[in-house]
Amino acid sequence: MASWGQIESYAYWGTFTVAFLGVSVWESVRPHGALSVPAGLRWRNHGLLLVAASLFSMVVLRSTPVLAAIAVQRGTHGFTWLEHLPPAATWVLTVLLLDLVKYAVHRLFHSVPLLWRVHQVHHSDPDFDVSTGVRAHPIETVLTQAAALVAILVFRLPPAAVLAAELMACAQSFFQHANASLPTRLEAALRPWLVTPDWHRIHHSMDEADQQHNLGEMFPWWDRLFGTYSSRTTAGEDPFPTGLQGFKNASSLRLAAMLATPFKTTVKL
Ligand SMILES: [Zn+2]
Repeated sequence: MASWGQIESYAYWGTFTVAFLGVSVWESVRPHGALSVPAGLRWRNHGLLLVAASLFSMVVLRSTPVLAAIAVQRGTHGFTWLEHLPPAATWVLTVLLLDLVKYAVHRLFHSVPLLWRVHQVHHSDPDFDVSTGVRAHPIETVLTQAAALVAILVFRLPPAAVLAAELMACAQSFFQHANASLPTRLEAALRPWLVTPDWHRIHHSMDEADQQHNLGEMFPWWDRLFGTYSSRTTAGEDPFPTGLQGFKNASSLRLAAMLATPFKTTVKL
């Protein structure tokens, strides 16, 4: 019988592959805008960054969300009130809590100058497409994952619900970065419930005021609740420029450049 670690690994990479390919097919059918460099180059270099971030995370954290959830179930630490709720409520709260943690961490990345140095790697993408979803500096991956692990350990989140939240977040990270737009009516229907590509693209606007809005990962509700929601860019009409000033060229796609960015770029918040 497969272990929890194997189940998590197969489910994660299966979801990763299906979501990535699904969004890339959608992008080829309904592209929102032209890319400034070939998609193949973007996929390869962002893939290399993903490998570096995954290896760094394995070395530093030595755990995964599901393995942490299993470990805490075997012990007696953490709050136990979640265990007294019906399973459906526990699952809903797990998904909401982990999404709230990601919103909070994302907000810190935009508020603390040292963290913004790291998060700049994600925003300095010269284009915005499905592969932007994996463009994160290894330090950002570790800090975000560590915050999720703390929440899992403190609230004793159940392993199956943690896995479900992890798979949803994986698919959502590709969907929200799609270089594609939903049909107008579907966009209007979905936007109150789910982070859509058009809504998240506002966060990637080159206009610095826009970058402080739309920080949600899966649900736009935290932005509504905490006053960071924006339904339109201040940069003007769509299409608007995305990325960061000074990064609009293919050299910012080089693996060495992405890894070095936090340590040498002038920070402006
Ligand atoms: Zn951001």
